[in-house]
Amino acid sequence: MPHHFSSTVKSFTTASGKTGQLYSLPALARKFPNVKRLPVSLRIVLESVLRHCDGKKVTAEHVAELANWQPRAERTAEIPFVVSRVVLQDFTGVPLLADLAAMRSAAKRLGKDPARIEPLVPVDLVVDHSVMVDHYGKKNSLDLNMKLEFQRNRERYEFMKWGMQAFDTFGVVPPGFGIVHQVNLEYLARGVHKASQRGDKGSLYYPDTLVGTDSHTTMINGIGVVGWGVGGIEAEAAMLGQPVYFLTPDVVGFELKGRLREGVTATDLVLTVTEILRQHKVVGKFVEFFGEGTRTLSLPDRATIANMAPEYGATMGFFPVDEKTMEYFEGTGRTKAEREAFEAYFRAQGLFGVPVSGEIDFSQVVTLDLGSVTPSLAGPKRPQDRIELGKVAGQFESLFSKPNAENGFNQQAAVFQTRHLVRGFGAPAPAAVPQAPPTALGAARQVVEMVANKPTLAAHHAPAAASATAAVRGKPDITVGHGDVLIAAITSCTNTSNPSVLLAAGLLAKKAVEAGLKVQPHIKTSLAPGSRIVTEYLTATGLLPYLEKLGFALAGYGCTTCIGNAGDLTPELNAVITQNDLVCAAVLSGNRNFEARIHPNIKANFLASPPLVVAYAIAGTVTRDLMTQPVGQGKGGKDVYLGDIWPSSDEIHALLKFAMNGKAFRANYAKVTTEPGKLWDKIKGVSGQAYTWPSSTYIAEPPFFENFAIKSVVNAPVSAGATGQNGLSPSGEAAVAPSVRGARTMALFGDSITTDHISPAGSIKESSPAGQWLLAHGVQKADFNSYGARRGNHDVMVRGTFANVRIKNLMLPPKADGGQEEGGYTLYQGPQGAAGVGDKLSIFDAAERYRAAGIPTVVFAGEEYGTGSSRDWAAKGTALLGIKAVVARSFERIHRSNLVGMGVLPLQFKAGDSWSSLGLKGDEVVDIIPDARLTPQSEAELVITRADGSQTRRTLLLRIDTPIEVDYYRAGGILPYVLRQLLGD
Ligand code: SF4
Repeated sequence: MPHHFSSTVKSFTTASGKTGQLYSLPALARKFPNVKRLPVSLRIVLESVLRHCDGKKVTAEHVAELANWQPRAERTAEIPFVVSRVVLQDFTGVPLLADLAAMRSAAKRLGKDPARIEPLVPVDLVVDHSVMVDHYGKKNSLDLNMKLEFQRNRERYEFMKWGMQAFDTFGVVPPGFGIVHQVNLEYLARGVHKASQRGDKGSLYYPDTLVGTDSHTTMINGIGVVGWGVGGIEAEAAMLGQPVYFLTPDVVGFELKGRLREGVTATDLVLTVTEILRQHKVVGKFVEFFGEGTRTLSLPDRATIANMAPEYGATMGFFPVDEKTMEYFEGTGRTKAEREAFEAYFRAQGLFGVPVSGEIDFSQVVTLDLGSVTPSLAGPKRPQDRIELGKVAGQFESLFSKPNAENGFNQQAAVFQTRHLVRGFGAPAPAAVPQAPPTALGAARQVVEMVANKPTLAAHHAPAAASATAAVRGKPDITVGHGDVLIAAITSCTNTSNPSVLLAAGLLAKKAVEAGLKVQPHIKTSLAPGSRIVTEYLTATGLLPYLEKLGFALAGYGCTTCIGNAGDLTPELNAVITQNDLVCAAVLSGNRNFEARIHPNIKANFLASPPLVVAYAIAGTVTRDLMTQPVGQGKGGKDVYLGDIWPSSDEIHALLKFAMNGKAFRANYAKVTTEPGKLWDKIKGVSGQAYTWPSSTYIAEPPFFENFAIKSVVNAPVSAGATGQNGLSPSGEAAVAPSVRGARTMALFGDSITTDHISPAGSIKESSPAGQWLLAHGVQKADFNSYGARRGNHDVMVRGTFANVRIKNLMLPPKADGGQEEGGYTLYQGPQGAAGVGDKLSIFDAAERYRAAGIPTVVFAGEEYGTGSSRDWAAKGTALLGIKAVVARSFERIHRSNLVGMGVLPLQFKAGDSWSSLGLKGDEVVDIIPDARLTPQSEAELVITRADGSQTRRTLLLRIDTPIEVDYYRAGGILPYVLRQLLGD
């Protein structure tokens, strides 16, 4: 059958005279004139819908609906978006590979050819999430950390090698090359794709589009690629040729005007953008940047802003392709042919260039004058809480004694300046640093003018008590107090992909060293770039030795501190912090700072530009106001202010040429295949089409396809006795159903429960259910590794779900001091009258008891449930714990859809309702009865039966948002749905 829109296929010619074909949007605009005024990002999605219009998965109506997009219409239609490729990081990629391997095993058990399960689009996995900062501050830190990484992850890496040989379209960028989004930006993205066509038609070109199993996939929006983070389960569907379905979005136009001022960094800008867009509530929307100010931004600055789309809540933070994009492609070594095809394609589609005001119809327009951006940090608990540099110390002091509910630390103000001795820390201590007097206006003015061009602020509080040092057992002692910086990390692709901020950090380090400033050795300092190119240009510019002198030696090429792989502090430091309930700080150039993400014992986490990370490492405390007080004392005890060491824009620009060297990029990335590294070469994997599942505590066959049958079963209501082991029905399908009856409450949560709270992340405690399981399987504590590294083993992951040390289940009574108990516990609630009712148990242990008693469970939560990184185990673990529904005031986009994908019902309270307004305590019996037709965004009845037999009824909104989600849910989840499609004859 001819393509419905075959008349839109046109030819285009590159600068060198090469021709190709494309599905032309200008041609489509002849029929749908509205296309010309669509946001650029939507036009790229439209091209995919147009090209894949086959009358089945993608219909002519889908094309017409999107072509006629109206900026402020009600959103009900879903868009079937077939992407060009998929990117994975290793934490999320391994379970995905395990699911693919399990599908092959299921196919084999059914007598089908396992090779029928094969990614239909290119899939690249970048191994970046596994390296930890065990060693820091030494020249050989990188080597030592990588050796440990390979020791800890051998079994996972063997599994990846099996995947490389089993699938034709699955590639791996080995450990030690970089971070997925930076590698994607610098190397994997090639501009446009081309496919050969039958006959003599030549190649068909189409834009690069993708999904990735990491929420910061949006960094790629900086070079005009449409793509975002999805859960592993949706990524599996995408790689198997299924469309990614999403609700037609609103598109918010973000107009940038003016220019950034002297001394202001891209990090300051992105923290400002995040704060503004959070206020405009852009969750589920595209954000597209336009205007004259956007044209002035360098490509890496755009990528930094795009990267933090999850923090401002948007699906994407998109920048159109223009001359700056082409410059970046040249500077990063893309070939002439690639660049010419890229530019010619975008020009032929009318998509080249950043639009200005009035050219595009947006749902809403937000404006920012770049000249108003000031040096900033964000924190201490959320990325959207931006603080101007001059207010950081004051904000920390004010939050110190505020209650948790106001984002504070709930401490006695009287102990703010108390310091505690750490005996025999073990590292040589520098001379004690005397503090400057609270005001030094002359120097302060200099800082103010050079850094921010802001009005002078007076110092607002007394300096922290001076550190005391003493020698004990031949080792120096140190003192630690509230606000001390214990981790300072130049980390995260958000910033390490941006040469201007890394060169600024290097230049600041150089000036600081020359001024005689030092960093105390107990501060865990690290440099972990997202690509080897960074160290090449820091070396070529002569700046790396200065960073090393201040402790910022290369620790690894990977996520490290950004993902919580900061490594541990010394036992002495941990003991003093926990015994005295100290509020110590981390300063990092990352994008997330939720509680317990960076380190379980560090409560205040500030996001900052790389040069500010170095400055705070030198200061050693966040209680010092760097706008008015010295960063430290240099040679001869002289006060050194931030303005004395802050690099100028001219100094940075003079070095940028070292960072944009196409030859260096080509040589570096050629090594992915030619020289992947000796450690990687030594890894040997299983061979063959189907995985043999050798015994491993890292990789295990997930239970999602046990007893899988090609024929779907009709779901029955979930109630007592309906579920078997791991929450699966005897047929092997998740026992999902339109109604949940006789359920008990597993947890009552407040607002902003993140996927970091829900899903297993970070280190595994010996006393936790996962720790106990590992010990029982012969794994010693030293070899536990992190949850992230064990995502390929469901037995570990289900035990770590809701086990975060900072999660607060409000079912638990307050502690004696009035504070809320933290940790993954619940009060077991049923069946009534049975032994053990009211017992405090870990959520996993309670789930086991509920499972044994055949009782389904539900979770109640507040606003923004599931916000944070895309973590498919947040949904998989929820399902495997036997939780059948989550009722919240609002949901984060990816987590909501992942819950549906795993057969868990997401439901939303109607305005004005919440679990607290209903007076829930957690001991009630809960029924949830959706409309039997189960249509998208329909209603469900919540029936609460209290201990005295009284009942309360409320109407909930069913957050199954699209028709395809109904199909997934009815099939028991997306995995059985897709497998049935692939194996159906
Ligand atoms: S560095 Fe941070 S933002 Fe980037 S991929 Fe790693 S964890 Fe995600």
